[in-house]
Amino acid sequence: MASRVIPVDPFDLVIFGGTGDLACRKIIPGLYRRYLAGQIPPGARIIGAARADLGHDAYREMVRAAIRDHVSENKQIPETVATFVEHIHYVQLDARGVTGWKELGGLLRKGVIRAFYFSVGPGLFADLAERLVQHGLNSAGARVVVEKPFGHDLQSARELNAVLARCFDEHHIYRIDHYLGKETVQNLMVVRFGNTLFEPLWNARYVDHIQITVAETVGVAGRGEYYDRAGAMRDMVQNHMMQLLCLIAMEPPSMFAADAVRDEKLKVIRALDPVSAGDLVRGQYTRKGDIPSYREDVDNPDSLTESFIALKAHISNWRWTGTPFYLRTGKRLKARVSEIAVVFKKPPHSIFGRQGGRSGNMLVIRLQPNEGIVLNVTIKEPGPGGMRLIEVPLDMSFAETLGEDRADIPDAYERLIMDVIRGNQTLFMRGDEVEAAWAWTDPVIAAWEESGNEPLPYEPFSSGPEDALMLMHRKGRRWREIADEL
Ligand code: NAD
Repeated sequence: MASRVIPVDPFDLVIFGGTGDLACRKIIPGLYRRYLAGQIPPGARIIGAARADLGHDAYREMVRAAIRDHVSENKQIPETVATFVEHIHYVQLDARGVTGWKELGGLLRKGVIRAFYFSVGPGLFADLAERLVQHGLNSAGARVVVEKPFGHDLQSARELNAVLARCFDEHHIYRIDHYLGKETVQNLMVVRFGNTLFEPLWNARYVDHIQITVAETVGVAGRGEYYDRAGAMRDMVQNHMMQLLCLIAMEPPSMFAADAVRDEKLKVIRALDPVSAGDLVRGQYTRKGDIPSYREDVDNPDSLTESFIALKAHISNWRWTGTPFYLRTGKRLKARVSEIAVVFKKPPHSIFGRQGGRSGNMLVIRLQPNEGIVLNVTIKEPGPGGMRLIEVPLDMSFAETLGEDRADIPDAYERLIMDVIRGNQTLFMRGDEVEAAWAWTDPVIAAWEESGNEPLPYEPFSSGPEDALMLMHRKGRRWREIADEL
């Protein structure tokens, strides 16, 4: 079942921030794995560009170390690593100054695909775009990959979009949301639109509610400065969770193509109602034993930033009016889990009487860990005696179904970088989508900032503040347990 690998065309990929954490942990190891798979052609060049004073050789050494540290051992093949690093080059460059731009220009070739990956802090995105134009490096068709965060609010996202639009055509701008590169997220679209089974039921008539959970066990230490300015709403909800919500809720696009998909996602975001204060719970983790509190992690004793958020969203359209979407995300929770649960309505009447019970079916789409899809169905408990009903899972675990080939499924960054080279924008966010997401997020944030309300405390490794449970319980609903097991 291994996927067929088609090599991409020769390219020059410049990684601005090529010595940084993201480049070393994700981008370079991802490129190596694609090289090992045979997808990167001999005519490819990967050019690291960063502030450090390094030569090609020292950078190649850094690339070798990145592979050693972040690629599984069975994929570290010395001959392959040796030929891979021959594709690697380095330029010392200042995004805000004059250093390095001429040298970079000298390395770039005519007639091959050109891509610039902005793997630097967001404060440099605009500088880089403008310098590329100033030095005449944004040749026709050159692609630009922009990391998150894309803006801090609607105003800053608009400004960034405006700068990028002056420098590149929208069809060449790739705004990364690595959630979209995850295997199961794409499978979500195939489950919905490749089967006839679910689509007729995929609406407010049959779906009671939808839960989207992105839970992490880690705290924010190490990213404190950034996180304390962002919080869970900006860091997770505005981008990753919004994308998941769109894919779950959107109408079928006419085809699996960039603008067709993105048009449908945009309609969902624009149909979202404002979130009322009563439909939202913010939390902040406290200290537990040796585990420092959020405020200690960010070194800000008065911080009002949320490390947890749960909210109820409504989509006002024909398909979804009446079906709430519950979103929940946080740090220092019970388990590391990303999943979507589509909870169907109960049968209207139980012919089995009281002992039968009446529970709704639930489709759980698990993004991590244990990627897979489970459908809970009601069956008769085996054995003589009464008609007792139980729920059992119909389980499609990708690890089991796809067996050893699972190990060959590219990770999100690998897939997305290859999509950039192939010129496929389907799994990237369009400028208007990002702005619409901020337009929905901004007033929610403004409302709690105005109220001055403190986030509610919650214990590390719990399910978050009690009030988040109440958000569901009030309506007789229940969050799924935050647990490793599906
Ligand atoms: P980092 O601080 O580890 O690396 C920053 C890089 O930018 C370094 O290579 C540095 O040399 C370079 N740089 C800084 N100032 C420069 C200048 N003036 N001119 C040229 N180069 C300069 O950052 P990171 O963690 O790799 O993050 C990079 C981007 O990716 C950020 O936008 C971040 O938000 C985003 N991101 C990172 C992660 C992650 O896991 N690290 C995850 C998601 C998104």
